[in-house]
This record gives sequence, structure tokens and C-alpha cells, in this order.
Amino acid sequence: MVNKLIYLDNNATTKVDERVLEAMLPYFKEEYANPSSMYDFAKKSSTAIKQARSVIKDFVNANDEKEILFTSCGSESANTAIRGVLNYNKTKKHIITTSVEHPCVLNVYKSLEKQGYKVDYIGVNSNGELNLEELESKIDEDTALVSVMWANNETGVINPIEKISQIIKSKNKDTKFYVDAVQAAGKIPIDVQAAGVDLLGISGHKFHAPKGVGALYVNSKTMITPLIIGGHQERGKRAGTENVPYIVGIAKAAELAADGLKYELTEVKRLRDKLEKGIVNKIYNARLNTGAANRVPNTTNIGFEYIEGELILLHLSDLGICASSGSACTSGSLEPSHVLRAMNVPFTAIHGSIRWSLSRFTTEDEVDYVIEKLPSIIEKVTSISPYQKELEELKRLRGTANDV
Ligand code: PLP
Repeated sequence: MVNKLIYLDNNATTKVDERVLEAMLPYFKEEYANPSSMYDFAKKSSTAIKQARSVIKDFVNANDEKEILFTSCGSESANTAIRGVLNYNKTKKHIITTSVEHPCVLNVYKSLEKQGYKVDYIGVNSNGELNLEELESKIDEDTALVSVMWANNETGVINPIEKISQIIKSKNKDTKFYVDAVQAAGKIPIDVQAAGVDLLGISGHKFHAPKGVGALYVNSKTMITPLIIGGHQERGKRAGTENVPYIVGIAKAAELAADGLKYELTEVKRLRDKLEKGIVNKIYNARLNTGAANRVPNTTNIGFEYIEGELILLHLSDLGICASSGSACTSGSLEPSHVLRAMNVPFTAIHGSIRWSLSRFTTEDEVDYVIEKLPSIIEKVTSISPYQKELEELKRLRGTANDV
């Protein structure tokens, strides 16, 4: 057991940045007024929200602050966007999404199917890349909504959002486009105008704000029926007294993320690539699950053939190393990941697949430590695999070196 914590599960959640916490604290202490109140004391709270809205507007490059709503999380952003669009105009009953969305999107569609909606789930290739021809062929007059994630939480694979938007609008200009950008925000640039997105959701805890705050962009031409009805907050689109400290927190985190984007795209990527190569080159039964797909800079998903991912995670945990065997919502269950299944990752590797996700707080020493310790863990777990004959054959074919 080591005291050290090596946190490589940043797609599940991230550490709150000290500067975010500092920015939030006054709104728990002195500045506790309800931002809707009329007296002077409430001015700081209402101004803080106004400023935060402007920061998020810039973060996603919206045209107007009025296009930004604050929510409680990425799941609420998705539910508000999807149900909001469909409830506003109930005449169209067709939806298109992907087979690799996060459960907070997929389960909304499963429930809408029970209400009579027809949902098409677009597939991906073995690298996790979306089948755009299939997507194009499904759009018709009745398509109310297309929803595609910007980056996948398990593989980091980036979808070509601008291209998808062009395809949608060329087939049906009335079809709305929702993008779950929860795993893209803070890792790659987001520009809703350039990308032609109608609605887009983000979540603070994936980029160093606390859990419990998200945001939703709804462009001014898109109407939604609110999910939460009550007071007039968020221009009537999301009732409930605003969570001022957390809204301040997500805005501070967005500011830091925007400033740190270059670091993410160079240094975090360098460390991710080092980790990936270090693992795949040293371990003969390791395979990179995403091939050459375009990915966010912090994520890699590696399958270890003929062994169980859960056992690997337990050994890693003994060394203080945190990684994940699927999305956080499904880890703990032995069901193989729906994302890797959609990619047709061979059954020999799917159960032993591990997601590693770095952040700006990941250090070179941590990456080196994992590269040093992992081979003996894999060897230990491999030695008790019932597939010894297959492993021998794999070793004979691959030797000890792999090429990433
Ligand atoms: N979308 C994606 C791609 C995610 O990875 C997650 C969380 O893991 C969510 C949505 C849900 O976000 P939240 O946990 O803030 O509800």
C-alpha cells in the first residue's frame, strides 16, 4: 500500500481547483443573498451570476448571454435539452442519436421510445468513429432532434460536430441538434456558432469545478419547454433559486480551462501518449482500443486480452492508482461497456479494458510510476487466466513489443 494517490480517472470527475474554491467561498459566507431580491445586499449575488453567464457564453462562444442556462449537472442539461425540444413541438416523433452516448442521454431515449418516439441509434466503427453515411440516411421530414456527443467519455473519441451539423441542416433545416459536450469542455475548443449547434450541455465537475453544477446553451432560435417549473429564474427556462457559489465556481473553472487549453492540448496529451506507449509497448497482451481515431488529449482506453479489468483495478488501487473499467455509472457491474461493444472490441479484450484519463494535475512522475508498476500487475493477473494457450499464442505472435 502506498500513501500516494495517482488519480487517472478524470473523466469520472476532477479535483476542484483551489482557485475555483477561493472564488466560491464568499458566496457561502458574506454574500449569501438571494439574487432575485431587490435590496442592495443582493446586488453582489445577481452581478456574480451575470458575470458567470458572460464567462460561459465566451467559453462556448455563444452569441448572447441569454442563450446560457445554469443547471445542476450534465444529466440535467441533457434532459432539459432533449425533453425541452420535444415537448415544445410534439408533432415530430423521430430522433437520431448514437449507440455510444452516455447513459444520461441513452436512458432518456429509452424512456421516450416507450412514449411512442422512434429512435435510431447510429453505430461506430472499430475505432469508435461514427458512421456519418448512416446518420445522413436516417434524417427525414419527421426528424425532430439529432443528438451526438462531442467526445466520448470512455474512449475520448471526438465526433466531427461541425460536419454533422452541416449534414443535418442540409437534409432538414428544422431538425434540432443537441451536443453533449461534457467530455469535450476544457479539453478541446468549443465554438457553438462555428460548429452549428442548437443546444449544448456541459458539466462543471469534469473540468475542476465541484459536482452539482452544469450549463446548457440553447441558441436564440431554439424553443424549449422547461423541465422545472416554478419561479422566473433563468428567464423562465429553469426554476429554482440560483446556486450562486456553484455558478461562480463553474465560471471560474471555465476561465481557467480556457486559459489552460494549450497546456491540455500539448502537455496533457504528451503525458497521455507517454502512458499509452509505455503500456502498449511493454505489455504484449495490451491493445489500444481506439486505433488512430481523433481523441481528446487526456484519455486512452486500453484492453488487456484474456484477463478481467476488475482484478487489474483492484491491484492498481492497492498502489493508490485510480483508473476505471468503463463509465463511472457502469463500473462496479460486470456488464461489458456498451461503448466497447458498439465498437466490436473482441470479447477477449472487452472485459480487460481500462480507461485512463489524465488532467492538468497529472505529473510525469505519476505516469512513470504507472508504466513501471503495471507490467507486473498484468503478469500476475495473466498468470491466473484460464486462457493460457491463447496467451502463449498471442505472445508468440506479438513478442514483447507492440506498435501504437
Ligand atoms: N455526458 C457525458 C459524456 C459524461 O461523461 C457524463 C458524466 O460522466 C455526463 C454526461 C453526465 O454528467 P453529470 O455527471 O454532470 O450528470
